[in-house]
Amino acid sequence: MSELSKPAVVILLGPPGAGKGTQARILEEQFGLVQLSTGDLLRAAVAAGTDAGQKAKAVMESGGLVSDEIVLEIINDRMRAADVAQGVILDGFPRTKGQAEALDAMLAEAGQEITAAISLEVDDAAMVARVSGRYTCGMCGEGYHDSFKQPAVAGVCDKCGGTNFKRRADDNADTVAARLAAYHADTAPLIGHFDRAGVLRRVDAMQDIGPVTAQLISVMDGAIG
Ligand code: AMP
Repeated sequence: MSELSKPAVVILLGPPGAGKGTQARILEEQFGLVQLSTGDLLRAAVAAGTDAGQKAKAVMESGGLVSDEIVLEIINDRMRAADVAQGVILDGFPRTKGQAEALDAMLAEAGQEITAAISLEVDDAAMVARVSGRYTCGMCGEGYHDSFKQPAVAGVCDKCGGTNFKRRADDNADTVAARLAAYHADTAPLIGHFDRAGVLRRVDAMQDIGPVTAQLISVMDGAIG
């Protein structure tokens, strides 16, 4: 594990199915950071039936973007929690210009800055296949895929031994098309924003999980020092 001199703030950018969640989970162990996924936080809010969750539910099912107001409220609370003091990997946030500006302000207020914004670059054509085959362990959240990553023992999670698996309701072809459209309209322009800020790194995410992890570790080593 690398020693960090100040809290790292690493952003993983990329369309649905690029591997943000899978890679964030590997990197958090490797670098002692905490993965913050706004998708996970929103799904938890929906499951808990909170006000924010009730407002977000229909938008998420359609593949659109939840309002900045709701997302910022959720992430703000989470980023102030004690367990994220050593640094975070932001997975799926920011996704709009408004969110990126709010993050900049949030970090400036805390005397922090973005360590790296890593763009996972993939072809749209590969996305539907990647997203529609994926599922996770219901106990520990480890990710699997019908074609690319199955448990060593069928039906048993490699990581925790759990035997319940779940698929996301929005991982279907129609919703994926809407999510890709939202990515291109609202999130892809942030690549330019981070480039201008001097923190952008690009990674070829069309390869298998292992080689993409290797590229990410090398980028993170360079950025975190
Ligand atoms: P994800 O798990 O990142 O694929 O997110 C699942 C869904 O949650 C997205 O399709 C959006 O509806 C919503 N969502 C997650 N993160 C954000 C965000 N930063 N801004 C707006 N909507 C989000």
